[in-house]
Amino acid sequence: MFCASPQPATSPQEANYQAQKKPLRTKNVIIVVIDGPRYSETWAVTPGLIPNMSARMKPKGGFLSNFYNDAYTYTNSGHAAITTGVNQPIDNNGDELPANPSIFQYFLKQSGKPATAAWIVSSKDKLHMLANTQRPDWQGTYQPSFDGGISGPGSGYRMDSLTLEAAKNVLNTHKPNLVLINFMEPDGFAHAGNSENYLRGISRNDRYVKQLWDFLNDDSYYKNKTTLIITNDHGRHLDGIDGGWMEHGDSCEGCQKISLLALGPDFRKGRVIENRYTLVDIAPTVARLLRFEMDPAVVVPRADTTVVKVAMDSTAVAQVLDSIRIEIKMEPATMKGQVIKELFK
Ligand SMILES: [Zn+2]
Ligand SMILES: [Zn+2]
Repeated sequence: MFCASPQPATSPQEANYQAQKKPLRTKNVIIVVIDGPRYSETWAVTPGLIPNMSARMKPKGGFLSNFYNDAYTYTNSGHAAITTGVNQPIDNNGDELPANPSIFQYFLKQSGKPATAAWIVSSKDKLHMLANTQRPDWQGTYQPSFDGGISGPGSGYRMDSLTLEAAKNVLNTHKPNLVLINFMEPDGFAHAGNSENYLRGISRNDRYVKQLWDFLNDDSYYKNKTTLIITNDHGRHLDGIDGGWMEHGDSCEGCQKISLLALGPDFRKGRVIENRYTLVDIAPTVARLLRFEMDPAVVVPRADTTVVKVAMDSTAVAQVLDSIRIEIKMEPATMKGQVIKELFK
């Protein structure tokens, strides 16, 4: 006797989601991170310094008008939030690896592609740290390729025009599917207190992003198959806070409010999305576009101070400071990021 088992009930929400889940055309994702411009010098006054992005590109994609780094507003933390989908405090000198594996590692592992299919191309050499993770079961595996700084890790920052050329060279030579590009001039010149070059950096980066978009659309391998996401790692202090535009790193609105513009064959055109999203939502969105899964179980480092009752080294006991030790503990957590679904057609 054939006995039909009852079909599991499908909720209306799930049926709706399944119906909306169209086949995707994206085969490549390029993320551009413009390092540290303040919203008040960019999207708050358009076209202003960003005519290419605001007037020419925005109508062709989706723009998030309430997008934030609502956690650690430093370069390495901001970038690690983008690539791992997790906010964590992290050493800003490049010596500390993210606690969790990255979109590069998940993509390379699940696609079975070689290391040249995923790249980090960066003006700041210290961002080589995005290529690896502290997580023991992932450390040293499925790492993306890196082209950054003057001549690699420890060589210093290079100008963004050279990073743009390096990125085009990588795209031409290796045809990668997943690339993160870091442009640093707005941040670098602001820290140097050079307002003219800070503003010039923003306007140059606006031009470089357009050149990259044109490059992708002129290349038969990338045309109509590539999603471009342009965002920031952090903003800068509001005027009057701790050095104003020159510095960043706290939770003021100037440091936290950033932008996201996204263009690609699966995204709606000319859409302004007002729902609030943050940096950790980029990774799940990229995972959806490139069809890989990320482990929702993550860890977040927390600093704990421990009082040391018996010092190991008895000659050091005399000082009060020696009785306290800071320990970094990895706390289990669940990934909070979500796909930015309003971008999709
Ligand atoms: Zn900075
Ligand atoms: Zn601030």
